[in-house]
Amino acid sequence: MTTTLITGANKGLGHETARRLIAAGHTVYLGSRDAARGQRAAERLGARGIQLDITDDASVRAAVKTVEADGGLDVLINNAGIQAEMRDDGVVVIDAAELTADVMRKTFETNVFGTVRVLHAFLPLLRRSAAPVVVNVSSGLASLSRVTAVGTPTHAYPGVAYPASKAAVNMVTVQYAKAFPNMRINAVEPGFTETDLNANTGIQSVEQGAEIIVRMAQVGSDGPTGGYFDAEGVLPW
Ligand code: NAP
Repeated sequence: MTTTLITGANKGLGHETARRLIAAGHTVYLGSRDAARGQRAAERLGARGIQLDITDDASVRAAVKTVEADGGLDVLINNAGIQAEMRDDGVVVIDAAELTADVMRKTFETNVFGTVRVLHAFLPLLRRSAAPVVVNVSSGLASLSRVTAVGTPTHAYPGVAYPASKAAVNMVTVQYAKAFPNMRINAVEPGFTETDLNANTGIQSVEQGAEIIVRMAQVGSDGPTGGYFDAEGVLPW
C-alpha cells in the first residue's frame, strides 16, 4: 500500500492528481490550507483530508504528526503554489519594472520556503519508507534555456518572481536528489493548464496537466531522480 500526500490539492492540478492516484490504489492525504474546502474535496474523491498551510510551521508539524500516527508516508507531492504577479484576469502585470522585494518574498514564501518547509518536516517519514518518492511541481518557466529561447511563449512571459521561484525549486530538487540517493526526487512541468493559478487562461485540461505529476509519483526505485520532466520527456534546465 502506497501512502501519498499532495499539498494544495483542494482544487486544480493537485485535486486531479489526487483523483488519479486514488484510482491507481494510493492512500491519498489531500492537503488544503482551508480545512473545510479540503474536507469537501476529500469526501468527493475518497481521500483523507488534511489541513496543511505550507507557509505555517504549526500546520505542517500537525500534519506530520497525523500522517505519522496513521503509519507513515511514501510519496510527497509538493504541488501548492502561487503566481503573485498576475491580475485577476490572468494578465501578468508585475514585470521587471514593477517587481518589488515584497512580491518576490510573497512568492518565495509559498513556492520555495513552503516547499522546503514541507520537505524538511516529512523527511523523517520518507526515510522510513521502502520506496520514497518526491515530486516537486515546478514549471516550464523555471527553465533558463526556455526563458531565453527567443520567439517562444516562455520567452515572452514578463514576470520575474514566479519563474525565479520555480528555478529555485529545480535547484532544491537537484540538491535533495543528490543528498538522498535512495529517494526518487524529480521536478515536473505540467504545461499551461486551465486553473485558477492563471485565471483559467491555460490551454490544456487538468487531466492533461496532471499526467506528468501522476507518472512521476509512481516512479519505481529504478526510475530517474534529480530530473526535470514534462509529459513528453526530459526538459532543459
Ligand atoms: P490552483 O488551481 O490555483 O491550485 C493551487 C493550489 O495551491 C490551491 O489548492 C491553493 O489553495 C494551494 N495553495 C496556495 N498557497 C498555499 C499555501 N500557503 N498552503 C497550502 N496550499 C496553498 O493552481 P494549479 O495550476 O493547480 O497549481 C498547482 C501547481 O502547478 C503550482 O505549483 C503551480 O505553480 C504549478 N503549475 C501550474 C501551471 C498551470 O498552467 N496551471 C503550469 C506550471 C506549473 P487555495 O485554494 O487555498 O488557494
